[in-house]
Amino acid sequence: MSTDTKPPPIKSDITPVPSLKDRGNLFEVATRQIEKAARMIKLDGDVASILQQPKNEILVNFPVRMDDGKLELFKGYRVQHNNILGPYKGGMRYHPEANLDEMKALAAWMTYKSALHEIPFGGGKGGIKFDPSKRSRNELERITRRFTHALGNNIGPDWDIPAPDVGSNEQTMVWMMDTYMNVVGQNERHSVRGVVTGKSVTAGGSYGRREATGAGVMHCIIEWARDNNFNLDGAHVIIQGFGNVGSYAARLLAQKGAVIVGVGDAGGYIANPEGINPHKLSEHVAKSGSVAAYKGAAKISREEFFALEAAIFVPAALELELGMKEAQALKARLVVEGANGPTYPEAEEYLLDKGVAVIPDILCNSGGVIVSYYEWLQNKRSEQWEHADVLARLEHRMRKTWGEVRGYAAKHKCDWRTASYAIGLERIQTCYKERGIFP
Ligand code: NAD
Repeated sequence: MSTDTKPPPIKSDITPVPSLKDRGNLFEVATRQIEKAARMIKLDGDVASILQQPKNEILVNFPVRMDDGKLELFKGYRVQHNNILGPYKGGMRYHPEANLDEMKALAAWMTYKSALHEIPFGGGKGGIKFDPSKRSRNELERITRRFTHALGNNIGPDWDIPAPDVGSNEQTMVWMMDTYMNVVGQNERHSVRGVVTGKSVTAGGSYGRREATGAGVMHCIIEWARDNNFNLDGAHVIIQGFGNVGSYAARLLAQKGAVIVGVGDAGGYIANPEGINPHKLSEHVAKSGSVAAYKGAAKISREEFFALEAAIFVPAALELELGMKEAQALKARLVVEGANGPTYPEAEEYLLDKGVAVIPDILCNSGGVIVSYYEWLQNKRSEQWEHADVLARLEHRMRKTWGEVRGYAAKHKCDWRTASYAIGLERIQTCYKERGIFP
């Protein structure tokens, strides 16, 4: 295997999937981002070939009986991108627009995220194409259990470990775990709790997992503020997406003195220049399902949201939300990608040219996978770590990787996304070189 061969172009073999929002093909966006780093480090051609497509793309169609007695067929996905560094790992997304190319991109990002943070996991992602908000709790349970059963041995605590993502949560993971446990046989039940992470603490989850991704976002913002002599106290922040990632990021940033002046979700956008109380807003969302109609802020349009006066923007909703139009409206000095793949490459180039810092998803939204790793370790060892211990370990790891990416970007004079991929790719490449390619 030579080290100086030019990598072959990494291309998607799938035509773009029509999307309600016409977002474009996420896998092609991911490919473009990775190619840039691959060229910079002169990634070995063989390694590039292996990484250009996932190892496995699993599609399952499974029937579920609905509350009204009718049977419905669901389409489920699990994409396993790479497992050279450890078991496949990644979330399960429940969303009406879920599609294979989206899963492929998200699975690839998990590979590089784990590699960047030196977590012994590979990359995977999956989900079901449906709208969970339109289903009863009983239907959600049956859909989740039937999906888990349909996946069979394609998941497992040492093979592929799902976690929550958009539209799924702790309860989803508990149902997945319970279904898996019940089919492995009674002697193994308790040794397979690590088949999923992001479970409730009572079912074997880790303290700190719930807020982990938001906490990781906060640590990156604190590091950036320290590096740039920026005072977070009183700084204005806008957040798109107020689910797991966005709501915890908001609460933790408010604790550091930041003022949340705008929030948006699938139901609408709101603003208050005096600040929105994220705890009260979380209570409102828990009751109503959306930030819309929150009494402590005014309703605004999506366009007005992006133009708000705020130094920090945290996209924490879906992918490809920050295009050229949004980038041109944005007043922020810092974009911190809580969501996976929220920024179009052209918009990122524009922002970087304007001097806006863009902290890439694989660096800053990794708190979830880091604490998932701690949960998996606790399950393997039959341990329960203290909350403060988990959060301290997370902070340490986020700061360590932050320093590595900062150093790499400065040394190679590149943007932080390219630096983050480059570090991950180099680790994967080293592993392939040491192990060779079987047979
Ligand atoms: P979630 O389902 O808890 O919340 C998603 C939020 O996005 C909701 O507030 C929803 O209303 C909003 N949203 C959906 N469509 C929208 C739209 N068109 N416009 C504006 N808002 C919209 O999901 P989550 O777990 O918080 O994940 C959010 C993002 O963070 C995703 O990109 C996910 O892949 C990424 N992420 C999540 C984790 C995790 O630990 N949960 C870890 C890493 C990355």
